[in-house]
Amino acid sequence: MQRGLIINNISNLYQVQVGDEIIECNVRGKLKQEDISPVVGDIVEIELLENEKSKGIIDNIIPRNVYLKRPKMANLTQIIFVVSLKSPKPDLLLLDKQLVYAEYLNINPIICINKIDLGREEDCKNITKLYQDIGYKVMNTNAKERLGIKELQKLLENNVTAFSGNSGVGKSTLINAIFEENITEEGDISQKNKRGKNTTTNVKLYSLGKDKYIADTPGFSTFDITEIESNDLDKYFIEFERYVPNCEYIGCNHIKEQNCGIKQALSENEISQERYERYCKIYDYLKDKEDHKW
Ligand code: GDP
Ligand code: ZN
Repeated sequence: MQRGLIINNISNLYQVQVGDEIIECNVRGKLKQEDISPVVGDIVEIELLENEKSKGIIDNIIPRNVYLKRPKMANLTQIIFVVSLKSPKPDLLLLDKQLVYAEYLNINPIICINKIDLGREEDCKNITKLYQDIGYKVMNTNAKERLGIKELQKLLENNVTAFSGNSGVGKSTLINAIFEENITEEGDISQKNKRGKNTTTNVKLYSLGKDKYIADTPGFSTFDITEIESNDLDKYFIEFERYVPNCEYIGCNHIKEQNCGIKQALSENEISQERYERYCKIYDYLKDKEDHKW
């Protein structure tokens, strides 16, 4: 029995990375039902076929830390949320929704402000400071000129990382720059898993060396955050946490309530006004979805 990581899946065939080798695998019958079948990102136990080279059967799935339904994948550890400083202009409501989702799933979020060559330095500083003050890691890049790529690259170690953000913000350019910058331990540029233009709709993991994977996740940027309850939203605005105990009402949603710790913190500039406004928008959105569920 060997342990490996599923990096690709096309119908019933799986590619499992075991050390430096990629083993083509089928699945044991017991794992064929939809709800328990393996997905990309799963760590699995496989049995090698005796008479065929690099072929095997998946026997068992190691319990998942994280499971995403759309696109289906397991054990994503990190998401880099890309916004461009200009063209298109930063969509901070989308960014906050995505941060909420990452917090909810317990995936480490990183913010990347790209196209810093196109916008105003002051705008870049403001966004960077807003999110750094909350506690998020914020990177500044110019993917076209490959500025900030090495720093980004370092954050990939020991992670399975996906990129997310609106179309046109520079995700592909960033990922390609990372691949071109990637020097393997042997000293040559990693070609083994060279990433092609993405034409498929399935998730795929690309190896950048040991325990360093980039997830190619088509259709990933349109998160469905409606599985989060409006009442829980404040938990995922992480800078709110320390002020919630100051609210008079247990279960305060910090919207219309009096004697609210969040509003107090707002008035003392401990919480950013714009983050609060986006909290209210996302809250209304979730509440509205809940009210129209039945
Ligand atoms: P994606 O849709 O998020 O994958 O965005 P792309 O990587 O396709 O980039 C969209 C356009 O922005 C392309 O024309 C890129 O060349 C350009 N672009 C990406 N990053 C930068 C950057 O940092 N600066 C500038 N000026 N252009 C960039
Ligand atoms: Zn409150």
